[in-house]
Amino acid sequence: MTRFITRKFRCPCCGKRFEGRVMVSTNTCGSLFTDLRHKAVGIQPESVAVKSCPYCGYAGFDEDFDLPAFTRLKVRLKVKKRVSEHITPSLGTPDTYRGRDREHAAWIAELKGEAETKVARLYQFAAWCAEDAKNGEKAIELRRKAGAWLEKALGNNRLNKNEIARIRYLAAEHYRRGGLIEKAGSWYDLAIEAAEKDPDLKWLVDLARQQKTEPKQYIRDRGWD
Ligand SMILES: [Zn+2]
Repeated sequence: MTRFITRKFRCPCCGKRFEGRVMVSTNTCGSLFTDLRHKAVGIQPESVAVKSCPYCGYAGFDEDFDLPAFTRLKVRLKVKKRVSEHITPSLGTPDTYRGRDREHAAWIAELKGEAETKVARLYQFAAWCAEDAKNGEKAIELRRKAGAWLEKALGNNRLNKNEIARIRYLAAEHYRRGGLIEKAGSWYDLAIEAAEKDPDLKWLVDLARQQKTEPKQYIRDRGWD
């Protein structure tokens, strides 16, 4: 069962306080997608994982409000400028894919120089929202961004060895779902190459082969998504 508590947050961008929900437990009883998205029954964890300040639109994960978010003045000024010019003005306008705050959080994480995998995860959350809202064009744009950020993470060689096969596979899935089939094919091959070195990842080898040749939407379909 998904459970929440309510707590106060202080926006590190405008300094105002607001209340938000924090997830204390979730479930993975829903479908499992081939991009490794576990759907929950009830409220989806990614819908509460990202907070957005109702006053200025600054967005991020819970910890992006807890920590001294901008230790460097240069970063602080860049984030404030981006928020005031491109995010705050959109607050009163409709969000056509219900994931705009996740995309904004990705922009901010990028400006703050956060890990590439974190930026990719935020674009992935936004892409899921766009897909749930049946906004295909936006979903394609966001999937491509998520794939590109994972590619950057892989290029920087800062990942743990045991993450590489999974991240290559996810990059392939983002590109495939973003319509870049040839690029996806190369990343499936690289995922297979890395996963074949680990007997525990046989499932990933099989999955990557399937997704490259005969892609499916679900690993486990609960039928109510
Ligand atoms: Zn704010």
